[in-house]
Amino acid sequence: MKQAVAISGLHKTYRNGMEALKGIDLTVSEGDFFALLGPNGAGKSTAIGIISSLVRKTAGSVHLFGHDLDREPGLVKSLLGVVPQEFNFNMFEPVVEIIVNQAGFYGIPRREAYARAAQVLNLLGLWDKRKGMARELSGGMKRRLMIARALIHKPRLLILDEPTAGVDIEIRHATWEFIREINRQGTTIILTTHYLEEAESLCRNIAIIDHGKIIEHAPMSELLQRVNKETFVLYTHGDLDRLRDIPDCDVRRLDDSTLEVDIDRNQNMNGMFARLQRCGIEVLSLRNKSNRLEQLFLDLLAHKPR
Ligand code: ADP
Repeated sequence: MKQAVAISGLHKTYRNGMEALKGIDLTVSEGDFFALLGPNGAGKSTAIGIISSLVRKTAGSVHLFGHDLDREPGLVKSLLGVVPQEFNFNMFEPVVEIIVNQAGFYGIPRREAYARAAQVLNLLGLWDKRKGMARELSGGMKRRLMIARALIHKPRLLILDEPTAGVDIEIRHATWEFIREINRQGTTIILTTHYLEEAESLCRNIAIIDHGKIIEHAPMSELLQRVNKETFVLYTHGDLDRLRDIPDCDVRRLDDSTLEVDIDRNQNMNGMFARLQRCGIEVLSLRNKSNRLEQLFLDLLAHKPR
């Protein structure tokens, strides 16, 4: 498969001597939905800044779709859309103008730009707001405006830096549905997020960066295979005061009818159910508390040499 991103030996030392990236190698395949994760200060924004020509690298190379950032910076920029964390549009400009003016930076004629703006604003549910000033939009709408603007030149790679930070659940889901659809249509997506469940459910491949180094770079499914404990929430009927220790299970009581239990991935759950039944406790339903990636993330950060 062709590579959307190929980064080799990427190094960045800031003027104050801070070594933000210490020789990073990273590849992202065309069409991928890729997660770049790491704790605060790990180097994610620096890496994204270099890919999008906002930060000057100290050493190494960056290729997008086979084009060298150093040799063809204009072309590389045209292949890329970035949605940064902060709202950085003019709050006093009408929504549609923000999009159309952005198109101007890519040499898209105004008539074509208005047609495209109509398309993306409709897709993102902002068409009704097109004439209002950006500052009149709600937080979720501002976030969608950022995405609309990043898509106006039809980039082949879209980088989203914490796109749903502080966005409520409904809008988060709608945003993800939209990004998923863009990905289905062929746009490669790189996502940084603090919501690890989000990365787990959306992304096919993942890299974890810590202290300026890539400490993991693998398919999501392979990483999740390595998590050997899973946590389940059990909704029960019966008197939980009668609960006794269950061998090989770490059971915690959350309230009068809810338990949380850690179970080894290869462990049969029948024994646990039988034990609970013997205590007069029936399990009405259960759900997986999908924090597997979080657990893995913490394990990796704790155990990897730096
Ligand atoms: P992340 O996005 O993963 O939180 P950053 O790339 O923002 O990490 O930062 C990596 C490291 O580089 C941090 O220690 C940060 O303080 C430092 N850093 C980031 N930007 C600058 C800058 N402009 N000047 C000096 N140091 C910086």
